[in-house]
Amino acid sequence: MRRILSHRHRLLQSVTTRLTLFHLTLFGIASLIVFALIHLSLSYTLLEMTDKYLRDEIKEEENLFNAGGIEKLRKEFINESLGKKRLTVFYALLSPQHNLLASSDLAPWKGFPLVPPSKEEGIRLRTLPRSGDPHKVRVAWKRLKGGAFLGIGKSLKSNDEILKNVRTIFGYGFLSMFALGALLGWIVSKRAMAGVERVTQTAIQIGRGDLSRRVPVGNEGKEIEELARAFNNMLDRIQLLVEDLERVTNDIAHDLRSPLTRIRGMAENALTAPPGAHDFRDVAGTIIEECDRLVGLINTMLEIAQTDSGLTRFSKVPLDLCRLVREATELFQPAAEDKGIVLQTNFPEDSLSVLGDKTALQRVLANLLDNAIKFTDSGGQIIVSVRAGGGNAILEVRDTGVGIPPGDLPHIFERFYRGDKSRSTQGNGLGLSLALAIVRAHGGTIEVTSTPGAGSVFTVNLPIS
Ligand code: ADP
Repeated sequence: MRRILSHRHRLLQSVTTRLTLFHLTLFGIASLIVFALIHLSLSYTLLEMTDKYLRDEIKEEENLFNAGGIEKLRKEFINESLGKKRLTVFYALLSPQHNLLASSDLAPWKGFPLVPPSKEEGIRLRTLPRSGDPHKVRVAWKRLKGGAFLGIGKSLKSNDEILKNVRTIFGYGFLSMFALGALLGWIVSKRAMAGVERVTQTAIQIGRGDLSRRVPVGNEGKEIEELARAFNNMLDRIQLLVEDLERVTNDIAHDLRSPLTRIRGMAENALTAPPGAHDFRDVAGTIIEECDRLVGLINTMLEIAQTDSGLTRFSKVPLDLCRLVREATELFQPAAEDKGIVLQTNFPEDSLSVLGDKTALQRVLANLLDNAIKFTDSGGQIIVSVRAGGGNAILEVRDTGVGIPPGDLPHIFERFYRGDKSRSTQGNGLGLSLALAIVRAHGGTIEVTSTPGAGSVFTVNLPIS
């Protein structure tokens, strides 16, 4: 019993059922209103027809009376109500004092009031009940010449029967259309909801851990298809984020282990060595340095992950890229000079505006310049140029450094990737990953070409604002 109740509850809660019920109710109300209007207009028309019949009859009988008097009418009354007709129609002629002068067979009309209206002029029409009969009677009275009253009554039985037939036909029609409507409504809603159900099923499967599932896009209608597509897009994004998270976790596990082991080793050495063998202050200093490096590493990794996943909200303000480059090169000029490298800028345009986050773009520049200086030997040259092209602002950092071997080129933007030659240089292999993440978040691209031994060119494309 409880299961049946809960099943019924679930059924009532389902959108399909609700949609079907809603449409059926609307359909029911609309049909009833239409039927009521038809019924009203039909009964009015039928009554009009009856009235016309009675008026014509009154005129006809009046003409006869005028031509042939009471006798003529008496015969006519009997003729008019022969057979079964006497059950539904009566004719009566009353004296001015309301005494019956002539009539059709009034036996079936026993008890029916033959009372002419008090008002005299014209034909008076009224609807009166008839005792022992559910059907009412329409009666027409007219005062004839000489003061006699001519009355004709007609049962409204035939009108009632027509209306009853119409009601019956409507009743059956309504019921069958209602049933058909319920069935069709149910099928249509069910079909439309099938898409939603597919999304739900996929969501359930994903909930169990299968993130590779996608909702098949059917043809239940635009809205459902859009829902499926939006859901799939969301899944693509979630999958990317999860994969990213996995990668970051792996990177952390892999790349934090060695510095941590190193720090631990130093501390252990200091502890196990004979007293006085180590200056603890030196050890502590090195450990602090290593820890700072580690914290920097972790922060950069988080930054990359957040930038890649779109969690970092960069401000998008118009920035003059030439000015940004000028400031950055000024900052790196001393380092370049120290190493005996010529650092130059080249701006064909005075200014070039891009939409972006100043600090973030400064970091991109800093990374590229830092690398260029790091991987260029004394006597080398670095040229930083900014120009416009194809709707983009193009920033180029060109150096005459050691270059990048073709085997390394596809990997240098990966996290923690460091070329063989860079083992001896400072760095953590995260600079270019961060630069790439930032440029991508700004809707741009970053590319590299390089000739080992001759130098490298890093090209950043950013949309012009
Ligand atoms: P890092 O500089 O800390 O090693 P990056 O992500 O900035 O890390 O660079 C990754 C690798 O790409 C470097 O280790 C180096 O091998 C290579 N690389 C980057 N820039 C240059 C450059 N201008 N010239 C030669 N090699 C470069």
